[in-house]
Amino acid sequence: MYEKVGNILKMAQESNTAAIAFICMDYVMARSVVYAAEATNTPAIVMLYPEHVTIQHTTGFKNHAALVKELANEVKVPIGLHADHDYTYEAIMHTIDSGFESVMMDGSMNDLDTNIALTRKVVLKAHEKGVFVEGEIGHVGLAADSDNHNEDLYTKADAAEKFCKEAGVDSLAVSIGNAHGEYKETPHLDIARLEEIHAATSVPLVLHGGSGIPDDQLLVAFSKGINKFNLGTEFLGKYYNAVAEFASENAGNPDPVKIINLPEYAQSKLQPYLEGRMKTLCHF
Ligand SMILES: [Zn+2]
Repeated sequence: MYEKVGNILKMAQESNTAAIAFICMDYVMARSVVYAAEATNTPAIVMLYPEHVTIQHTTGFKNHAALVKELANEVKVPIGLHADHDYTYEAIMHTIDSGFESVMMDGSMNDLDTNIALTRKVVLKAHEKGVFVEGEIGHVGLAADSDNHNEDLYTKADAAEKFCKEAGVDSLAVSIGNAHGEYKETPHLDIARLEEIHAATSVPLVLHGGSGIPDDQLLVAFSKGINKFNLGTEFLGKYYNAVAEFASENAGNPDPVKIINLPEYAQSKLQPYLEGRMKTLCHF
């Protein structure tokens, strides 16, 4: 059942757990998430990374919003739809007009006051349309650049408090030792910092760069204010592996339309992985 992200995060907050937002570049990934959520009776969020439309052309904005809502309404469990990192007012408005009722305004590469001003402008317009807005304070950088070790980029509790109050965001992405992409070595979340941020704010907190953080650290973070957890790199890697296995298993298959069996095959490989992630990490 299609559900607003704000309601799913409220459920996560009440249960002291996190909903996983999975980056889905196409229908196969989205369908795998929706049916894994249904199989485990776990609310989940299908997330679009806008560059997958604008640069890699794996789907379209309107098309993606519609296909996720159609899939969501095939099942009973709550399924949310969210757009990940947009960086400008214009880009966010385009995403919203395409059918997304939950978006992220990432102004985190700017200084605090500029980030507040940019995000505030988005929030005012988005709220008029009933749209939920995630902001980011501190900066979640790239694991490839070892940004997860750079404490200068970490979120500070007093800045988070000011940002939430002045920008008016509905949820907040934090930088506490996490980074995007594949970590060079095991990351260590700064839990003491998370506790300070959680005490200084009241909105659900969001953890980006979820691939490769050990489960025990994640579960602690989810008990201390992280209510949305973004997972992309690991899931995309599993999808690639499924496609490679399909190609290898069908190498001698003379059927010229064998490609039509790829989506079902990939889903059969992805769904057990997704169900495992939900069972281990989400406790609604
Ligand atoms: Zn991110």
